[in-house]
Order: sequence, then structure tokens, then C-alpha cells
Amino acid sequence: MVRFGPAGNDIKFYADGNQSSIDAPHWLHDMELTAYEISFGRGIRMTEKTATIIGEQAAKYGITISVHAPYYINLANLGSYDKNYHYIKRSIELLHLMGGNRLVVHVGSQMTMSRPEALANCRESLTKVVQQLAADGIDDYWLCIETMGKYAQIGNIDEICALCTVDPQHIMPTVDFGHLNCLAQGQLDIPYVFKQLQPFAHVHYHISFIKYGPKGEICHLTLADQQYGFDLRQIMQAIRRRNADDTVICESAEIMAQDSRRLFDFYLL
Ligand SMILES: [Zn+2]
Repeated sequence: MVRFGPAGNDIKFYADGNQSSIDAPHWLHDMELTAYEISFGRGIRMTEKTATIIGEQAAKYGITISVHAPYYINLANLGSYDKNYHYIKRSIELLHLMGGNRLVVHVGSQMTMSRPEALANCRESLTKVVQQLAADGIDDYWLCIETMGKYAQIGNIDEICALCTVDPQHIMPTVDFGHLNCLAQGQLDIPYVFKQLQPFAHVHYHISFIKYGPKGEICHLTLADQQYGFDLRQIMQAIRRRNADDTVICESAEIMAQDSRRLFDFYLL
């Protein structure tokens, strides 16, 4: 089953009188959506009590929760490994309380390293993370490592697919089409992406139209944007053809749930 849902809360969610993410599963269910991504991007501030309540609501309304790990994780930086591990482990603990098992992770940034050196460090860190999680008794999880939109970041489609081989039972790609379109300066090659995804039985997707400049990603737009878009129908057809355990998260600005519904409608066509 392919699931659809937003990252974060839509302006309509608040306009409808809701205030907290605790209310999101019910609201998303009413839109016939089935996924919901919660961001710890700027920090892990959720309490275990809140996570437990969200988990109960998610189970009640058939919503599968994923979590976005903090943006400041940088697996290329071996000196910050212990901190990175702590953020990942803590994110997974809260994710489990919410009944989910997919943690979206930005692998890292190249900093002053060469690309091969940064990639080798990411591979070393990821290997240690999966070993340490196993040692800590954590097994039911996926690290969904994301394709990124700036050239200084680690994570084009080839790099991400290669890093997933560290542990194919626990690492899957998050394909962010908006990011890939930024890297390609508007020349997103959709068939190539799906060719690279053929070995994967589980894929996580982020979809939004994103404004880009010479360094890549600038800001998220909505799917109504005419300038920075790409062929959503082609992507939805390819996902339908895969017929796999895939989840499509919409990251539009402001109207991410309404745009999720729009993506789901393209998928159903
Ligand atoms: Zn991300």
C-alpha cells in the first residue's frame, strides 16, 4: 500500500480550529490521507506523553507516522558521532511511541572535505549507527536517508542509493524530488530516478516544488507554482507501477495536506 500525507500542519488544519499535532491524525483521516511526518528538524522537544497520545490517535485513524531527524546531524563529521547517534536514537524512541518506524535523516554536509572523504565518513558513521542501535536493542526502524538540494550537501540519488547498501534491512532512500530538481537546475530526470530505485522494496518520498539558485535549494513553494515544477503525474504513475511499500510525503509550503490530497488524486487517476 502506498501512503500519502503531509510534513507538518496545513494552514487549513489551523483554520478548521485545530491547535496541536495531537489532532492531526483525525483531521488527516477525514481527508483520506494515511501518513503524517513530524519534524524534529530544529530540535527534539516532544515529550513522551505527547508522543504516546499521537501514537494512540494515529492507530485509531489509520495514519502512519514518520519523523524527520534534526537537521544538524552531520554523519560526515566523525568528531560529532556521539551527538549524532544520540539524536538518532532519541528520535527513534519517540517515533516508536508514535507507532512509526521511519526516521528521515539528512546524511550530512561536505564541509572542507573532498567529496570521497565525506562520503567515506558518512558510510563509516552509518555503519556504526546501525551496529550501535542493534547493541542498544533497537531493531524495528528504517533510516530513510534523503537526497539533498544543495551541492555542498551529501546526497544525490547515486550517493544515497550507494549508502543504503550499508544495511539494506534498515536503510532506505528518501527521494526528495524537489531537491533533485534543484540539483538538476530544473532538468529532473524522473526515469533515471526510478531506475535507481528498482532494487528497493521500500522507498520514502518527499515531494514539493522548490525554488533554486546557483547553489541549489532556496525555498519551498506549493504545487501550484508554474516556474519550478516538474511532472507530478509521471512520478505518481511510476510509483503506482512500482506497487511497493512506498510513502509519499508532501512538503509544500503552508498547504502541504491539501497538496498531499492532490498528489493522491494524481496517483488514483
Ligand atoms: Zn529533509
